[in-house]
Amino acid sequence: MRFCINLMAAGVAILAAGALRAGVYGDTPDARHAWAVHDMNRPRPPVVTAEPGLPPSDAVVLFDGTSLDAWVSKDGEPCKWRIVDGAMKVVPKTGQIQTKQAFGDCHLHLEWASPAEVKGSGQGRGNSGVFLMGMHEVQILDSYNNDAYADGQAASVYAENPPLVNACRKPGAWQTYDIIFHQPVWEGETLKYPGSVTVLHNGVLAQDHWELEGLTTHCRRRPLAPYPAKLPLALQDHGDLVRFRNIWIREIPSRYANTTHGGPAANEADVMALRKETAMKLFAAANPDDQNKRAALSRMLEVVSYDKSEEHMRVVLRLRDAYLRELAGLDTRQIKDRKGEIIAVRNECNVLIRNKVFPEECKLRAELQRIINENALEKKK
Ligand code: MG
Repeated sequence: MRFCINLMAAGVAILAAGALRAGVYGDTPDARHAWAVHDMNRPRPPVVTAEPGLPPSDAVVLFDGTSLDAWVSKDGEPCKWRIVDGAMKVVPKTGQIQTKQAFGDCHLHLEWASPAEVKGSGQGRGNSGVFLMGMHEVQILDSYNNDAYADGQAASVYAENPPLVNACRKPGAWQTYDIIFHQPVWEGETLKYPGSVTVLHNGVLAQDHWELEGLTTHCRRRPLAPYPAKLPLALQDHGDLVRFRNIWIREIPSRYANTTHGGPAANEADVMALRKETAMKLFAAANPDDQNKRAALSRMLEVVSYDKSEEHMRVVLRLRDAYLRELAGLDTRQIKDRKGEIIAVRNECNVLIRNKVFPEECKLRAELQRIINENALEKKK
């Protein structure tokens, strides 16, 4: 218990120094991961409230039934579509509308309804569309009992990829799109990563991280080309009386922006830079002269799990020797009282050995294991 209290005190001190806590627990940082598994130092995600039926707290509301203020016509003139019974309705031949604000990668929610009265067929029935960054159309179409071509049905990436399923509701019924969009990533004129679109249509997966092949057009395959990092979101006027409601958007990071947490864009130089930065912060808070030698040692074990520099290792070896001397001075009863702590440090060594931070013939682990065995501190499995 005393050990726990000491650790808690150490934890509070370190938290006050910079929200960092000691401990080697999961697999350590490596060449592609700046953080350990279950790392308490890893930044926590921002908190978002998400109440039923309401936009998430970090969403930009684009239409809530009361105002068209977020929208303009393509020519920059005020939006010519109309609000009817709390819904935004296409006014045919007034042209597409687009957001005043520009967006890049995003999570978009919108609800739409095709006219209850069915007119036309194929592409001529309840047609509109969501143009992500004005470039990539997720088709809106009354696809209910409507034999339109597959790559132009509701929730298709128009002219590119049909939806996985036709989840269209009856004409006039409100339907939902939840779209996760990532724009392509370019290095100059070279495409580094294709963009992608995921679409849930009425909660049903319709596009599963579809990697974009081109810019939307009609009849042709138009290759991808660089465009600005943020562009307005547009809704299509295809001459049909499609209605919209409850439109909100959340800006999200590129899947390729984070180069330090594994994933497709992991970069060893960036990972190492962040590991060194974290090690520096931990080292500054490590307090090697702490009377609690175990706590001081554990904090330094964590430091070297991020960055095994010569300077850090010199401190580790000094603390290791001091800790082992302290244990050597204890009688059997005292050793048993501290068995949890001794096993915990041995386990930290095991993690470091497993991750090749320490060699298999680690003296600290060997000595602690000897103490554990000689005093039968661990139940035989
Ligand atoms: Mg369309």
